[in-house]
Amino acid sequence: MRAGWALIFVGVMTAWGGPLTGQDRSNNPDDPIKVVVDRLDLERYKATIKGLTQFGDRRQGTDRNRAAVDWIDAQLRLYGCTPTERIEYVYEPPPRNPNAGRGRGNTNAAQGGGRLRGYRIPTGVNTDPMKQPDEKLRALNAQPSTPGPREEVYCTKVGSTHPEEMYIVGAHMDGHGWGEAANDDGSGTALVMELARIFSAPDVKTDRSIRFALWNNEETGLNGSRAYVDQRKDMQGKEVPPGSGKYPEPKWLGMIQHDMMLFDHGMPLPDGTMRKEQRLEADVNLEFQRSSMQAAQAQALAWELEVANEKYASDYPAAVGSHMTNTDSTPFMDLIPAISVRENERGTQIGAGWDPQWHQPTDVFATYSDADFRLGLNAAQTSLAAIAKLSGATIRRGQ
Ligand SMILES: [Zn+2]
Repeated sequence: MRAGWALIFVGVMTAWGGPLTGQDRSNNPDDPIKVVVDRLDLERYKATIKGLTQFGDRRQGTDRNRAAVDWIDAQLRLYGCTPTERIEYVYEPPPRNPNAGRGRGNTNAAQGGGRLRGYRIPTGVNTDPMKQPDEKLRALNAQPSTPGPREEVYCTKVGSTHPEEMYIVGAHMDGHGWGEAANDDGSGTALVMELARIFSAPDVKTDRSIRFALWNNEETGLNGSRAYVDQRKDMQGKEVPPGSGKYPEPKWLGMIQHDMMLFDHGMPLPDGTMRKEQRLEADVNLEFQRSSMQAAQAQALAWELEVANEKYASDYPAAVGSHMTNTDSTPFMDLIPAISVRENERGTQIGAGWDPQWHQPTDVFATYSDADFRLGLNAAQTSLAAIAKLSGATIRRGQ
């Protein structure tokens, strides 16, 4: 009985505003997380996506893809995320599988687990140039992919007290389908670039390091992120040279991948068309993979982002799901906590045709409205806030 009374007493004290534990930090102007989230801006985010679309669909193994890597690299340096570094690898496409695209049949099983429900429309990759009505864009996308050496760029915010540990924030910069890859994955690439810009500001300090990685060759089977894992997993946490305080590959604490952030118009309608507007219930989908060896830790990371969304995202909520699949966080998922951030669940929703622009000539900047871009901005607010908290971000005063 006494314990009960004591609890009620504490509750009353809190209601009077005594202890500050219940205060909403998001309304506190001194909250460093709020300060950095407020540095995100819809027009800036859109401008970064627009900048990426000047390279067409940025298909891997082409001049337009290499030009896009150089442009991203130059932008990151402009933001002060220096030095930029590159992973080099070789991509040789596997022999064509005559059964590709077949075999799933009429099953309700979604890729990555989970069930397909409701109305569906077919999905696939457009390979027909004539389906792109814009002649200039068709010409820009005309050069075919050639096997051979590839590069992808990353830069790092070095932690001030724990430079030997880092979070990895990723998106893939390559696309295909004869459009502008504006959503897939210009939207995720721009999000990561915006975070790199904000964390690189001279007055932002973080305890732990953060690496911003723009993977290449995602669309051919996650080859760029796999190359990174293969080349660097055994370098983690090593000080090189000893005593230098430099860690070329800080220990990986988590990997957060961003892929297709803009379009949540809901399920296809019974006649196979889509709603014209972003649905009012649109959300940011945070997925971990329940069959991965780090499932429990990955789930905890997903909830960190969900909590950050509740506190700091301006418009759209976030939902956690357990079927992360087909994304650059996959090569990391048995080693470290790894999650994906998306407009929809990849397996059960995008796999059922919820994004009709996916790998199509219609994935161009002009397709999307501000309500669409705003979903991407809310995903940026979510990831930025979570990573700011996890990395121990503070703002230096008097700059
Ligand atoms: Zn993608």
